[in-house]
Amino acid sequence: MAHLSKYAATIFLAVLAAGAASVCFSATWEDIRAQEIAQCQQGEMETWHDSVDRPAVASPMKFAYSHTLAPSWFDEATVLAAVQQAAKGWSTCGIPVSVVAIQGGGTVPPGSISVVWSELGSRHNFGLANMGDRTISLGPSAFQLLQTRNPSYDSRQTLQMVISHEMGHLFGVMAHSKRCVDVTSYYDDSKGGHCSIRGGASLPPGVEYRSVLPTACDIQRCRAANAAEH
Ligand SMILES: [Zn+2]
Repeated sequence: MAHLSKYAATIFLAVLAAGAASVCFSATWEDIRAQEIAQCQQGEMETWHDSVDRPAVASPMKFAYSHTLAPSWFDEATVLAAVQQAAKGWSTCGIPVSVVAIQGGGTVPPGSISVVWSELGSRHNFGLANMGDRTISLGPSAFQLLQTRNPSYDSRQTLQMVISHEMGHLFGVMAHSKRCVDVTSYYDDSKGGHCSIRGGASLPPGVEYRSVLPTACDIQRCRAANAAEH
């Protein structure tokens, strides 16, 4: 009997330890981040007020990707898949989306939004959305710099984030979000202001907190921006 009760006590302690571990886990930034991506709570759609949301540049949204001038370590299928993933994410805003690949020298179908690699168009940023030209320009030199400085980092994450972010502007989400996790966020305003995390936590150092795809709040803002049109 003594042996059995000792065994039972050990199990009990193990359960307690497991319980403690799970409580601890629920407070990690990964878990809060996942919750923030999945749901948008009241009062969380705060922006930096650096622009004004507006309806999408087109409906339906047709994206045409050209791989010309892409960095050598990104193959066409990888970038095209990232454009498709971003488009799929933003389509839950309620606007139909399609994506095609344009082969070298091919013409962009009328009414399409071009996704291209261009130093001029991106102005040396990772990406830039031009509403007038209906173009998303990705920056070869910015990705080159990232690769040079941090070769072990998977730059496909950055690629996905940049495409999702710029696509959001074309969907009408113009102002940058103050919620760190949103793909349309800015972490700070360079005047001492910082983005916010649910529960008041600070940005965990050395990690990319921003989502690579549109979050629940990104989509909610997109729906609000396009509400009058649909
Ligand atoms: Zn932006």
